[in-house]
Amino acid sequence: MYYGVGMEVILTGTGSPIPDANRAGPSTLLKAGDTHILVDCGRGVVMRLAGAGTMPPFLAAVVITHLHSDHVCALNDVLTTHWVMTQGNGVLKVYGPPGTAEFVERQLHALERDIGYRIAHHEPLTEGPRVQVTELNPGDSFAINDVQVTTAATMHEPVAPTIGFRFEHEGKTAALVGDTIPCDGVDALAADVDVYVQTVVRRDIVEQIPNVMLQDILDYHSGVVEAAQTATRTGARRLALTHMVPAPTPEQYPEWIARAGEHYSGEIIIGDDLTSISL
Ligand SMILES: [Zn+2]
Ligand SMILES: [Zn+2]
Repeated sequence: MYYGVGMEVILTGTGSPIPDANRAGPSTLLKAGDTHILVDCGRGVVMRLAGAGTMPPFLAAVVITHLHSDHVCALNDVLTTHWVMTQGNGVLKVYGPPGTAEFVERQLHALERDIGYRIAHHEPLTEGPRVQVTELNPGDSFAINDVQVTTAATMHEPVAPTIGFRFEHEGKTAALVGDTIPCDGVDALAADVDVYVQTVVRRDIVEQIPNVMLQDILDYHSGVVEAAQTATRTGARRLALTHMVPAPTPEQYPEWIARAGEHYSGEIIIGDDLTSISL
């Protein structure tokens, strides 16, 4: 258990759209005292939340960086599990870019039969999942309990808008910026943070793979080198890499760290799912 002070960032899903037996899809959990905030909902997220010591009913909010399927495909599981485990009494708060409300509404529509079956069978359930969606514009700031959240536009064209997040709690800061190339928004969010979490691709490896759709990913993601350069430019104290393409084996972690380390002298974190960073 984690009590009161500080902040913990847990890489609940370090995978990408490419299926991987050991890596869930993109998601990251922030524990700020008792306030648990989930950033994105990739494949397998609810299992990984359990591994990280929490469950959908204990989430203060879900925040979404963008509506690419790899980042939201398991939101339906979060919605349903939250609904059932709170016996219909909880409200799930979801923050995300424009389009999030429609996405949630359509998820609930897809779940309509299940919702009907459960209401018919379980007396405590009298209505469907209660979800409070707040659509964000880049630059918005707000609070989730005692966690201050600031946002900025990131660059992941043609996906737009995409939103990066900076979380502050008891003097600790974390920037979770999602899929993006380096840009002013990321620089602002990651300025002097305790940890900067960046989704990355290995540009040098992907460039060697003769696949058109893999080549396409190069123009809207940060490479490992670019993430390291951003970390240096912003004065981030730690750099955590996630959403790694292609996913490294543990034996390859030192090579990834060495590559980033040529451009950044702070601590570099890379790991399996459930890697935890205490701030
Ligand atoms: Zn994306
Ligand atoms: Zn992605």
